[in-house]
Amino acid sequence: MSATILDGKQLAADLRADIATHVATLKAETGITPGLGVLLIGMDPASTSYVTAKETACAEAGMYSQDVRVPAATTQEEALALVRRMNADPRIHGILVQLPLPKHIDESAVIDAIAPEKDVDGFTPVNVGRMMIGAPCYLPCTPHGIIQMLLRAGVQTSGSHAVVVGRSNIVGKPVAHLLMRKAEGGNATVTVCHTGTRDLARFTRQADILVVAAGRPNTVTGDMIKPGAVVIDVGVNRIADATRKSGFRLAGDVDFDSAKEVASLITPVPGGVGPMTITMLLYNTLEAARRAAGASGTASPSR
Ligand code: NAP
Repeated sequence: MSATILDGKQLAADLRADIATHVATLKAETGITPGLGVLLIGMDPASTSYVTAKETACAEAGMYSQDVRVPAATTQEEALALVRRMNADPRIHGILVQLPLPKHIDESAVIDAIAPEKDVDGFTPVNVGRMMIGAPCYLPCTPHGIIQMLLRAGVQTSGSHAVVVGRSNIVGKPVAHLLMRKAEGGNATVTVCHTGTRDLARFTRQADILVVAAGRPNTVTGDMIKPGAVVIDVGVNRIADATRKSGFRLAGDVDFDSAKEVASLITPVPGGVGPMTITMLLYNTLEAARRAAGASGTASPSR
């Protein structure tokens, strides 16, 4: 058996076209252009390319983006001042602080400084708390993108056993929460694995839906997957490759070649979860602008 590839790039393109239409309507009806403020501290190559991709996506959707790139030596006070400036700027409806921050800056202090109504990454304690209790909030982009992929591929989450490998605040914990919540794209029975898990394969082999966000290549191989399972590979690892101009290639956390022989559906890396993450950021920024404009209803990704 060879799995069907879940094409995140195509799905993201369809959703972005939908978002661009909503942006144009909002502009025509209210004169408001959704705006994203992006703060990048330092010159980490991966972060720089993520930020550039996010800004390009904003422009393509007809949104305004304000790019603030400052040196790695920026102090915590300066970083906080930049966030506060974006909080007060009416052209900016959503704020993205690209992580990780340089070690001398307290990441939580900077995230906490983002006004909750502009927290389009969904990382502030207010947003996380609201998500946990099922109150209106911005859903974190990568987990939300994963749920949208599952829904649009017609994957039955309700009643399924979902196994999540990883328990980070930005992927593992929130995706586990979304999969278990009593809502569309949820209602699964969820197991969360981490480095304290004994015999990881014992759990991954029970998964109808397997989400892998470990940040380590080949964490899951084909022999660890139940035949017919749906596999979502969140990992993005740079593997040295002298044959490429860039000097590296991207690989996920799942061994794609062996996994695709066992799974029914699988996301590739690149071209799987990554494009959906950026798309959900655009979606949240549009939503923030609609709320600022006092628009009713939601521009919820239609299916
Ligand atoms: P992270 O903060 O490093 O967390 C990794 C998690 O995986 C931790 O909870 C860790 O357990 C667990 N883990 C690591 N090795 C394991 C193993 N062998 N067995 C079981 N659990 C293991 O990483 P993250 O921020 O969640 O990101 C995960 C990956 O997704 C990274 O490759 C990242 O680049 C990628 N990512 C992609 C996107 C996208 O849009 N495509 C977005 C975000 C992240 P402990 O808690 O016990 O340490």
